[in-house]
This record gives sequence, structure tokens and C-alpha cells, in this order.
Amino acid sequence: MTKIAPKPGIMDIALYEGGKSAIDGVANVVKLSSNENPFGPPEVAREAIRRASHELHRYPSTDHAALRAAIAEVHNLDADRIICGVGSDEIIHFLCQAYTQKNDEVIHTEHGFAMYRISAKVAGAKPVQVPEKERVTDVDAILAACTKKTKLVFLANPNNPTGTMVGLAEIERLAEGLPPQAILVLDGAYAEYVEGYDGGAKLVEMRENVVMTRTFSKIHGLGGLRVGWAYAPKPIIDVLNRVRGPFNLSNVALAAAEAAIRDREYVEKSRAENTRLRTWLAEALMEHGVPSDTSTANFVLARLSSPEEAEACDAYLQKQGLIVRRVSGYGLPSALRISVGDEPACRRVAHCIGLFK
Ligand code: PMP
Repeated sequence: MTKIAPKPGIMDIALYEGGKSAIDGVANVVKLSSNENPFGPPEVAREAIRRASHELHRYPSTDHAALRAAIAEVHNLDADRIICGVGSDEIIHFLCQAYTQKNDEVIHTEHGFAMYRISAKVAGAKPVQVPEKERVTDVDAILAACTKKTKLVFLANPNNPTGTMVGLAEIERLAEGLPPQAILVLDGAYAEYVEGYDGGAKLVEMRENVVMTRTFSKIHGLGGLRVGWAYAPKPIIDVLNRVRGPFNLSNVALAAAEAAIRDREYVEKSRAENTRLRTWLAEALMEHGVPSDTSTANFVLARLSSPEEAEACDAYLQKQGLIVRRVSGYGLPSALRISVGDEPACRRVAHCIGLFK
């Protein structure tokens, strides 16, 4: 008889619930469930992919030097403090693998991103959930939850799925108040949607205990290629590089990301269009009696009156060919997270919610 078994705890990990991308029997489906850039990647990234496709027999760069240099140049950072991963998901994984062991604690907020919990459990650590105040991150509650076993504190800013943001002074207070063995991970997946916000990069340069993660999946429109990066103090980068596989990013992904990050005009245009349509969508929903939290990202969190109404609304939208995201798994059973699509998509989802109401 076989004795093959995973290490304890693995089978207790819930599978990540990704959004649907199709609905049986419904044509013209619009997907507003994964916070993607509705305009796709910039043309320069498509061109870079075509060029890189001539080199598919070659292994990719192991040190990602060209991409790190491009990120450093564009964001005015130190390339030696950058590490790239297969989406920011992989960086979250690296942090948990490298910095936690059995019985260590990993703090995440009540309405925080699901991968923090999953990666902590895969590493064998214990996720610790901290309650939020009216859906807004509560720095005092996080500090109160810290113990001698706390190794990582994950905070998305802007937060997914609430879209809310914590000010830099509060973040500094959090970093300052952490126990000496803990790292604050500022997840900036949506940072580019906030004009003038550096995602916490300057804080990383000032402190030894802050890491910032970023992604190419959102404003750069490259979710399908899976590229993310982190900015961290050098000693932490050195540790994470020991956990990283040598060829974790394909040469196609590296080339596309490098081209995309240099296209600042595309980023500006995407941000401006997102702000315009997000404001329009939130107002249109409000006119239909559906309030939403003030979002700083590329989605709105629409608040229905009950879990039953949220479920019924989701089912109705699906019949109309619209996929949005239920967020019960994030402790928000009465809400629906709706990504800001292009203008026709925003009009369609607002119209259908009006019909539902
Ligand atoms: N952090 C947050 C807050 C997110 O919402 C997401 C994507 N849903 C990620 C990280 C992961 O993004 P990726 O792995 O595509 O970089």
C-alpha cells in the first residue's frame, strides 16, 4: 500500500477561486471579474512578443537584468533591490517560503487578498486574520495582533476587493510599530491607478523591514503573461533570489514587460480612462440604489442589501452575459466586485443592475 501523502495541512488549503471567463450558452460575454485592463497590453508589448518569439529555443535570462533596469529607470529605483516573479503571486510565495516556518504567523486583513492565506499555509505557517473598521484597514488592530511569532504582515494598498487606501503616514506608523522580526509587505498591484503614489517605494529605501510588490497584470494589461516584481532591502532580495527558480520568467514575458513599462503614455491613458469610467460607474450604480465604497483602484465594490440579493444579482448578470465577482470568501457576502471595463461594458453592467433592481 502506498504511503504517499502531502505534508500536514496541505489538504486543508482551500483552492483559489478564480473568476469565470465563460458562461455556458451565452454569447458576447463581458468579463469584469479579474480587474484586468480592458484595453489589453500596449502595442509595443505585442511587438516585443513577436520579436521574442524568434528566440523560443533559448533559455531566458536568469537575472532579469534588462527588465530590472527598465523598472529602475522608469520608477527611479535601484535595480539591485528589484526581484521579478511569475506574477506578484510568486513573490508572495517566495516571501512565505523564505521567511516562515511551522507555527510562525502571517498577518492579513479581514478583506485582504486570498493568496496571502494560501501561501502562508503552503509554507506551513499560520495565517492570522485582523478585522477591519468599516471595510478600512485598521493599523492599530494589525499592531495589536503582532506577536513574537509574526514574520510577515501583508497589506494591499489600494486594497482588493474594497478599493480603499491607507495613507503613507499610517503605513509608516505600522512599519515603525512592527516587532523586530516582522516584514511589512505592501502589495501595490493597483498602485498605478493612484496618480502620484509610489506604492511605498521610498519607504522601502528608508527602512529595513518593508517590501513593496507590484504587477504587470493590471494597468500594463499583461495578466496572461504572469510578471510581477518586488522592491526590497538588499538583504531580503538576496534571500528571495535563493528561493526563486533560475528561469522563472520566460523570455517572451520578460520582453513584453520591459516594453510595457517603458510606455508611460499608455499607463497615463489607462489611468485617466479608468478614473473617468470608475466615477461614472459608481454614480450610475448609486442612481439605481446600489452604493459602492470609494475606490482608488480599477474596480468598484457594489454593496447590495443582503447576501441573497448579491447572489440573485450575480445570477441575473450572468444571464445577461456579464461576469462580475462575488466576494463572500473575503468576508463580504453582500457585495459584488465589478472591474471597470471599457465604456460599453460599464454602460451595460450599470444598465443591467438597473433592470435587476
Ligand atoms: N495582489 C493583489 C491585491 C491582487 O489583487 C492580485 C491579483 N488579483 C495580485 C496581488 C496578484 O497579481 P499577479 O500575480 O497577477 O501579479
